[in-house]
Amino acid sequence: MAKYGMLIDYDFCTGCHSCEVACQQEHNYPVGKNGIRVTEHEYDTGEKIKIDFMPFLTDLCDLCMPRVAEGEKPACVKHCQSACMEFGLTKDLAKTLGDKSKVVLYTVQPG
Ligand code: SF4
Ligand code: SF4
Repeated sequence: MAKYGMLIDYDFCTGCHSCEVACQQEHNYPVGKNGIRVTEHEYDTGEKIKIDFMPFLTDLCDLCMPRVAEGEKPACVKHCQSACMEFGLTKDLAKTLGDKSKVVLYTVQPG
């Protein structure tokens, strides 16, 4: 199991895309290259049309380990507008999964 991970509670993701921008600025990535992408999913509940936003880490994500080594949070976590992202030890993040309804836990092996 990867030592570090990223937990995203997408129930609270507003689709603001600040995480994408923060990642691009941190890594000087050009437009279209991201460590995180936010996708939009529209579906019919039978009563209304709902839209969920789903952020996911790409293979370019290094969990901002140089920042973390300096005691900083990953750029995307710091700039998330709804504070729905959490970085930490995978084993600690996994313990909180049961308390949430729409949550994903990504594990990354930094290169
Ligand atoms: S942890 Fe760092 S590299 Fe990964 S998506 Fe967030 S900002 Fe990008
Ligand atoms: S910054 Fe946070 S709220 Fe905004 S799109 Fe990314 S995960 Fe969602």
